[in-house]
Amino acid sequence: MLDLLNLPGIKPVDIRTQNKSIVIVAEMVDDTIPLCPDCNKPMHKHGKRSTIFADTPMQMQPVRLEIKRPRYRCESCGKMTSPELTFLDEKRRATKRLVDAIRQRCLGATFRAIAEQTGVAVNTVKNIAHDLIEELEETVRYETPVIMGIDEVNLAGGYRCVITNLATNSVYEMLEYRTQDHLKPFFKELPDREKVEWVCTDMWRPFKRSFAEYLPNARLVIDKFHVVKMASEALEEERKKYQAELNKEERIYVKKSIRWLTLKRPDNLSPTEREALAIVRLKIPELSVAHDIKEEFFKIYDEPDRESAENAFREWEECLPGDKMPRFRDLAKTVHNHYEDIFAYWDAPFKITNAYTEGLNGLIKMSNRMGRGYSYEIIRAKTLYSEEARKVGSGVRPTRGKVEYGPYIPTLVKIVEDGKPD
Ligand SMILES: [Zn+2]
Repeated sequence: MLDLLNLPGIKPVDIRTQNKSIVIVAEMVDDTIPLCPDCNKPMHKHGKRSTIFADTPMQMQPVRLEIKRPRYRCESCGKMTSPELTFLDEKRRATKRLVDAIRQRCLGATFRAIAEQTGVAVNTVKNIAHDLIEELEETVRYETPVIMGIDEVNLAGGYRCVITNLATNSVYEMLEYRTQDHLKPFFKELPDREKVEWVCTDMWRPFKRSFAEYLPNARLVIDKFHVVKMASEALEEERKKYQAELNKEERIYVKKSIRWLTLKRPDNLSPTEREALAIVRLKIPELSVAHDIKEEFFKIYDEPDRESAENAFREWEECLPGDKMPRFRDLAKTVHNHYEDIFAYWDAPFKITNAYTEGLNGLIKMSNRMGRGYSYEIIRAKTLYSEEARKVGSGVRPTRGKVEYGPYIPTLVKIVEDGKPD
């Protein structure tokens, strides 16, 4: 029979199909009688044992390997042995090459799909994945970001803390929660922590407390999008108050939702949308005032340098209407409370934002598609160790050898959007 197995020490003697699997029966090639390892005397044949192992699929079907091995017994001491086969993972009842193939794929495809393709139990796939993750934890090291983003992303059933490299747009690390209990040890253990020059995050205070102690050279910059988002939220509050003032015909004419029209930057509106916005502004003067205030706030970020940005903010604040529109007043207050960290935006070597990290929220789709039963740990590993996304931006530097910055966020997002986790 043709040796389609190509495994050392055994040869196939029979093949059959059974329950949608290919069963290959194999025997030992060498049947030399061994010596007892204790007594050093020749042993005696003592029947045969047959064990079933999963092997790599053939013709898209799971393969079960039925290996018949002789058993030997020592007449002097009673010891029993069976020949060992180095290509087997006895614990997992699978060939090592199958375990390797599963390791290669387990972070890309669903455990269930792999189990179906290989005939291995889902739990075994899960165990292989956990072992792999443990190894990756030990061996994979990404370069500490010089410009670090810290953000929250809704992932695997909760808000997770994502640490990114904003210069390379890659994920550096993921923490289960963004509490000080998780952040402090992270910063404390961070290799080359003196390298971090900038940290970009939202206005959540504990961040600052967590890293100030451990990152001696880092400056905080509050993420632009978290700041302007408050202007949008303030506008929304006003919009809800006045929207009802349009009559039915006017609403039909406006078509697009007023929310959409007013929240979008005017430059991004189509000519028709711009016309619709003009009508809304004409019909609801109060909303048009609020809309202007929001727009003027956004424009602060268009300023080229810190001084003009600070001036623009001052002018904006001076133009706020008395005691009306309290949410915009709150926004002004928040800017004052975080003044240094907000205007640090203009001190950084380039315009630092966490905009890309937001895209990671889409990873929740991945965990949903993969079905329940995926722990945070697995989602984290699938994100952090994605082979495809790790290809981008990594390379070899002549002085330092292999350098990696972590999975590239646009690739991660694309993998999720294409619905092709592997
Ligand atoms: Zn013996």
